[in-house]
Amino acid sequence: MKYIPKKRFGQNFLTDQAIIRSLVEAITPQANDLMVEIGPGLGALTQPLMKYLAHLHVVEIDRDIISWMEKFYPADKITIHNSDALKFNFKSIGENNAEKIRVVGNLPYNISSPILFHLLDNVQNIIDMHFMLQKEVVERMVAAPSTPAYGRLSVMLQYKLKMEYLLTVPPESFDPPPKVESAFVRCVPHASLPHIALDEKLFAKVVLSAFGQRRKTLRNTLKGLLDDDGFTALNISSQLRAENLSVAQFVAIANYLFAYPIKSQAGI
Ligand code: SAH
Repeated sequence: MKYIPKKRFGQNFLTDQAIIRSLVEAITPQANDLMVEIGPGLGALTQPLMKYLAHLHVVEIDRDIISWMEKFYPADKITIHNSDALKFNFKSIGENNAEKIRVVGNLPYNISSPILFHLLDNVQNIIDMHFMLQKEVVERMVAAPSTPAYGRLSVMLQYKLKMEYLLTVPPESFDPPPKVESAFVRCVPHASLPHIALDEKLFAKVVLSAFGQRRKTLRNTLKGLLDDDGFTALNISSQLRAENLSVAQFVAIANYLFAYPIKSQAGI
């Protein structure tokens, strides 16, 4: 069909067949997987995935694409959810809302972080996720402490997920080509959390405060929250910056504040 891509929905359609084959190979779809594709678009991934899967769920926001899909795909092979992925209840998929799902998608880059955070809330329901994203975002997702790309996204995702940078994909692989390079990433929820925050909201607040002013020392960014005694007890120097702390150290700070809650009220 003749279709004019919509910029507001981040529509950059994959056209490079060799890349598409590599992505499907990395995903390794199995016939009975309960798989959900976010943003199927014109089917660059959808169609090869459907060759392997007994059934596929797709979540798409664009009504024009929805009506095309409804005509084009056999209804018994695909369930089409006309929804904003940011609002979609991923738990609603599956017979009894208890089966675990696999998530894939060449995501709209303008809303990739909110989608990742939305899925993070559903992580207990997820086997794995494979995403095409802006390369710079994938670099932030997988970054190690004390490297330039390491930030709030790295800490919050790595707390719950193991991540693997799989493939760099150039703009020419898409139509229209995006302005940036892309990368394909695999995210697998930790079987059990390596470091457990006793209060995950508090953990999120600590990470947010610490990275709020990236260039400032922890003494400044955690002022009113963690005093000298706290830094000493945790064996963390207050002269460090957020970017120097491991996920384990952020969890340790949050758990210290959870144990000594009086000080935690002042700063945040
Ligand atoms: N998977 C296709 C299309 C990728 S473009 C391919 O690789 O060629 C991104 C897709 O996400 C488009 O189909 C777009 O309409 C859809 N999309 C954009 N915002 C969305 C949202 N909030 N929720 C669900 N789908 C969305």
